[in-house]
Amino acid sequence: MNFSSELLHKYCKAGPRYTSYPTAPYFNESFGPVQWQEELQTSQDKNRDISLYVHIPFCDTLCYYCGCNMIATKDYSKATSYLDVLFLEIDRVAGLISPARKVRQLHWGGGTPTFLKPNDIRRLYNYLAAKFNIAEGAEIGCEMDPRELTRAHIIALRESGFNRLSLGVQDLDDKVQVAVNRVQPEALIREVYGWIREEGFPSVNFDLMIGLPYQTLESFALTLDKVIAMAPDRFAVFNYAHVPWMKKNQNLIKEETLPQIDARLALQKLTLEKLTAAGYVYIGMDHFARPDDELVKAQRSKTLYRNFQGYTTHKDCDIIAFGVSAISQTDDVYAQNVKVLSQYRNLVEAGQLPIERGLRITPEDKLRREAITRIMCDLELDKASFGKTWNIDFDSYFADALEQLQDMQADGLVELAADKVRVTDTGRIFLRNIAMVFDSYLHQQADDKPRYSRTV
Ligand code: SF4
Repeated sequence: MNFSSELLHKYCKAGPRYTSYPTAPYFNESFGPVQWQEELQTSQDKNRDISLYVHIPFCDTLCYYCGCNMIATKDYSKATSYLDVLFLEIDRVAGLISPARKVRQLHWGGGTPTFLKPNDIRRLYNYLAAKFNIAEGAEIGCEMDPRELTRAHIIALRESGFNRLSLGVQDLDDKVQVAVNRVQPEALIREVYGWIREEGFPSVNFDLMIGLPYQTLESFALTLDKVIAMAPDRFAVFNYAHVPWMKKNQNLIKEETLPQIDARLALQKLTLEKLTAAGYVYIGMDHFARPDDELVKAQRSKTLYRNFQGYTTHKDCDIIAFGVSAISQTDDVYAQNVKVLSQYRNLVEAGQLPIERGLRITPEDKLRREAITRIMCDLELDKASFGKTWNIDFDSYFADALEQLQDMQADGLVELAADKVRVTDTGRIFLRNIAMVFDSYLHQQADDKPRYSRTV
């Protein structure tokens, strides 16, 4: 890989992470509850499986780097009354979906889903299981914050049938943790991880974050050595997206404490070297997994997919999402719930679907989404088979994109063969930039309003 700072400076610009295409800034309010209800009713015959997502927005404290839709509170009654509204929303949506459709994946995100007390974890899981047909062997996962967590939370998750946990570790260095207001000593992480393993969870992911204040090569090398020694099944390593104009809480982080562009690249290189040397396989843009992990198998068999939850093996599922700000997705539609808790409550209590905005995608969107997904997941595009599937002449349809890729080829990011576009090892660092050449919305953008974080 070529980690030259010249390349980094050239390609470090704002761009989407492509967890959807078109990306969320292009969802609009002409798509609302009526359209979503229609879609739920008419898409039944597709016989597609379901991936359920539940958003629990509450967190005990605010991490200054947070980019999520969350509410920091110590008042647990907010969570119990939120559950009441969530159950109403689940009732309403489940009533529109054929009970024959199987749930292959269930994921709780946030916020902090483990803000819920153990009994409420059971109550929410049981409610979903009573309303939906959760398949045998379904992938059932939950994001966790190690702070404020008890063994009883982990037992409640395991007994409910959860089989995957994702632990927010980020960085083990004390100074970094204090600077981002997320103090979780190494001993605490070890204790929680021990409970998770003792309770027999088959898959555990650690989230790490690069680009946090005061991170240095030395400090992060130590974090990496310690987390590798714990041996989780997967790592998701995210670049901190500093977008204080979108996320006001990030103003609490002093710009001058952030590692600069070259330091971030060095941190990325270090992470890649250490995790692959420890036997983890690099997947897509930011994931690492053991060689026998399903994500690795999916990458090899070209069945890996990318959606709002990141990389997934569940390509042919509709995502049905519940809770404030949650985004649902069918093959043709994206639909997002309102982001303000009081509005969410009012709409659901009034018997409405709480959809704020969405998008019905065009055939061209679908075609470009597939091109972007294949680049982000397979790291290559087979021109002939893509052209045949979508009934286009690849070279003429994507003439613009191919022209932009010429420059990237000269920089060593891609190889352009007669039959293929292939991302090189160096290109993997700039995967978002490569995907951007297939995005027709970026070129239509009429204003220069900042919409995205930096690509690298
Ligand atoms: S725990 Fe997660 S969602 Fe909550 S404030 Fe921290 S980063 Fe944000």
